[in-house]
Amino acid sequence: MAVLEILTIGHPMLSKKAERVEKIDPALVRLAMDMVETMRRAPGIGLAAPQVNVGKRLITIDLSVGEKEDELIILVNPEIVRQEGEVVGEEGCLSVPDIREKVARPYRVLVKGQDLEGREVEIEGEDMMARVLCHEVDHLDGKLFTDRLSPLKKTLIRKKLKKTADTGLKL
Ligand SMILES: [Zn+2]
Repeated sequence: MAVLEILTIGHPMLSKKAERVEKIDPALVRLAMDMVETMRRAPGIGLAAPQVNVGKRLITIDLSVGEKEDELIILVNPEIVRQEGEVVGEEGCLSVPDIREKVARPYRVLVKGQDLEGREVEIEGEDMMARVLCHEVDHLDGKLFTDRLSPLKKTLIRKKLKKTADTGLKL
């Protein structure tokens, strides 16, 4: 497994709609494994393929950050088919370093997709799991969590990111 470079806000791949995976081949399986390694090393609890510069509908999630192998979720072509309720909670993103903001997300979601063997799977997530599922599916639609904030918040974030860039820190 390899650790891949994670793209950060401003890169065009992050605002592009990712393509459906038509065929689960060895290259896609390898990409998924590399994404798991990259996500755990970051460390992060979720990663979407566009964040590692691949415009395909593939996400990985692990709320335990590598602590529990059975909590690892790898989903191909995930789709939110049902959502309920709303929770406002703090969110961050590996592609938006050092920024955490409150974002409203559904309390519960039902997501359909495929596993790496091509079997249809359904995942019901509540609270944090629902938040991560929505966040990662947003990445596949070219949306960052900052796109869900008010225009004022967005301007403040742009200023903060610019300041970081000016001092030579990596963005
Ligand atoms: Zn993210």
